[in-house]
Amino acid sequence: MIDCIFCKIVAGDIPANKMYEDDEILAFWDISPQAPKHFLVIPKKHIADAVAMANEDIELMGKIIKQGTRLAQEHGIGSDFRVVINNGAGAGQTVFHLHVHFLGGRAMLWPPG
Ligand code: AMP
Ligand code: ZN
Repeated sequence: MIDCIFCKIVAGDIPANKMYEDDEILAFWDISPQAPKHFLVIPKKHIADAVAMANEDIELMGKIIKQGTRLAQEHGIGSDFRVVINNGAGAGQTVFHLHVHFLGGRAMLWPPG
């Protein structure tokens, strides 16, 4: 996808602080962390948002969640963390390549803003 910053990270055209990657997914630390530990897990293929997910992407999204929880363990976040998808500009989405935020290392408030 031309002009998609996360597709460019997947392609290696712009750098990212990568944590994990396989043939389908990529995890990297957020460039503007909103918690002491804040990383993103994304599908390598371009999916604009959760609404654009196809039925064939359901397993892929499960893999993203599962791998994110593993990374939380491996990076000392433990089992207390927030998992977020901002879907649509009105909900705070700024990069239109589906990504799941994992935030940890501090107490989380509810409801989110
Ligand atoms: P959202 O606002 O939910 O679309 O989240 C986009 C996230 O991507 C934000 O938390 C940004 O800080 C993060 N981000 C944008 N560009 C980069 C980048 N080059 N490397 C790492 N994280 C990024
Ligand atoms: Zn993309």
